[in-house]
Amino acid sequence: MKVLFDPDIPEDLKEDLLKTIEEEKIGEICKQCGADTLYVALINHILDVKCYECGYSYLEIELSEE
Ligand SMILES: [Zn+2]
Repeated sequence: MKVLFDPDIPEDLKEDLLKTIEEEKIGEICKQCGADTLYVALINHILDVKCYECGYSYLEIELSEE
Protein backbone atom coordinates (compact mmCIF):
# COMPACT_ATOMS: atom_id res chain seq x y z
CA MET A 1 0.00 0.00 0.00
CA LYS A 2 0.98 3.60 -0.43
CA VAL A 3 1.88 5.30 2.84
CA LEU A 4 1.26 8.93 3.74
CA PHE A 5 2.91 10.41 6.81
CA ASP A 6 1.72 13.01 9.27
CA PRO A 7 3.85 16.13 8.64
CA ASP A 8 5.04 15.98 12.27
CA ILE A 9 6.81 12.67 11.77
CA PRO A 10 10.58 13.16 11.52
CA GLU A 11 12.23 12.14 8.24
CA ASP A 12 14.58 9.69 9.94
CA LEU A 13 11.66 7.66 11.30
CA LYS A 14 9.98 7.13 7.97
CA GLU A 15 12.30 4.46 6.62
CA ASP A 16 11.96 2.35 9.78
CA LEU A 17 8.21 2.82 9.67
CA LEU A 18 7.97 1.62 6.10
CA LYS A 19 9.94 -1.48 7.09
CA THR A 20 7.69 -2.14 10.08
CA ILE A 21 4.56 -1.69 7.99
CA GLU A 22 5.92 -4.14 5.43
CA GLU A 23 6.61 -6.73 8.13
CA GLU A 24 3.01 -6.49 9.29
CA LYS A 25 1.86 -7.85 5.93
CA ILE A 26 -1.12 -5.55 5.80
CA GLY A 27 -1.50 -6.33 2.11
CA GLU A 28 -2.10 -4.18 -0.92
CA ILE A 29 -5.59 -2.98 -0.14
CA CYS A 30 -7.55 -2.19 3.00
CA LYS A 31 -9.50 -5.24 4.13
CA GLN A 32 -12.31 -2.98 5.30
CA CYS A 33 -12.91 -0.66 2.34
CA GLY A 34 -10.52 -1.65 -0.47
CA ALA A 35 -8.52 1.59 -0.47
CA ASP A 36 -4.81 1.39 -1.27
CA THR A 37 -3.42 4.12 0.96
CA LEU A 38 -2.31 4.07 4.58
CA TYR A 39 -1.91 7.12 6.76
CA VAL A 40 0.51 7.30 9.66
CA ALA A 41 -0.66 9.75 12.31
CA LEU A 42 1.42 10.91 15.26
CA ILE A 43 -0.55 11.63 18.42
CA ASN A 44 1.08 11.97 21.85
CA HIS A 45 4.11 9.86 20.88
CA ILE A 46 1.90 7.12 19.47
CA LEU A 47 2.13 6.34 15.79
CA ASP A 48 -1.20 5.16 14.45
CA VAL A 49 -1.07 3.34 11.13
CA LYS A 50 -4.52 3.45 9.64
CA CYS A 51 -6.43 3.37 6.40
CA TYR A 52 -6.45 6.80 4.79
CA GLU A 53 -10.00 6.33 3.53
CA CYS A 54 -11.96 4.64 6.31
CA GLY A 55 -9.67 5.13 9.30
CA TYR A 56 -9.44 1.44 10.19
CA SER A 57 -6.43 1.12 12.48
CA TYR A 58 -3.90 -1.56 11.55
CA LEU A 59 -1.06 -0.84 13.89
CA GLU A 60 -0.08 1.34 16.82
CA ILE A 61 3.54 1.99 17.66
CA GLU A 62 4.62 3.71 20.84
CA LEU A 63 7.64 5.96 20.41
CA SER A 64 10.21 5.81 23.14
CA GLU A 65 10.92 9.49 23.47
CA GLU A 66 14.01 10.41 25.44
ZN1 LIG B 1 -10.12 1.31 4.62
